[in-house]
Amino acid sequence: MKASPEAQLRLLELADLDTELGRLGHRRRTLPENAELAQLSERAAKIRDAITIADTDLADLDRDLARAEKDVDQVRVRIDRDNQRLDAGQVSNARELESLQAEVTSLRKRQGDLEEVVLELMERRESAQALRDGAAAEGETVGADEAAAAARRDAAVAEIEEQTAKAAAARVAVVADLPADLVALYDKVRASSGGLGAAALRRGQCGGCREMLSTVELNEIRAAAADEVVRHDEGCRRILVRTPESGL
Ligand SMILES: [Zn+2]
Repeated sequence: MKASPEAQLRLLELADLDTELGRLGHRRRTLPENAELAQLSERAAKIRDAITIADTDLADLDRDLARAEKDVDQVRVRIDRDNQRLDAGQVSNARELESLQAEVTSLRKRQGDLEEVVLELMERRESAQALRDGAAAEGETVGADEAAAAARRDAAVAEIEEQTAKAAAARVAVVADLPADLVALYDKVRASSGGLGAAALRRGQCGGCREMLSTVELNEIRAAAADEVVRHDEGCRRILVRTPESGL
């Protein structure tokens, strides 16, 4: 393929722009904020789960407490009723009196037991509430961290997009100045060479793969016409652009 030395030189400009575009794309794909956000969202999900579990525990404990308090009330009512009968002197039969007194004693014991259950349930409820409050507070911190990371991510993306648009516009301008067949060859080589289609030949070294060219290869390039598009045939196959520093 033939192309003017000026057009070949501009391929280096195109290669620089493509390197820049590749760098920007890589930066966008690997923004640390994205990993940070993924981690925070995982934490937020765990916190939401913990809050759901704490809410279920609280609802269960509230129900158990209401039941236990109702039991205490019922026992208290029975004790009061028995005491009233005793105080009113309604029971004269000795055996009946004895059995009523025994009932009051056993009811008092039951009341004590039930009150202990109520106390224990109240303590458990307090712990469950503390767990829920702690999780909710942590959730707020994580939410604020998420908002901050998202804002940083958005700012970085906006900056990358601006630089990408600039480089892409510059690329369009360079491509418009170059012969279509040269750009087509460059793009083909670029696609098969990890994103870099052309490189400068500097002091006998390929700027693409960094290999030194053999004397034979250098002699061939030396003999080639200035408008002949040469490639690193024995190496990376990229287009080699001759510059005053090529060492030819
Ligand atoms: Zn090479």
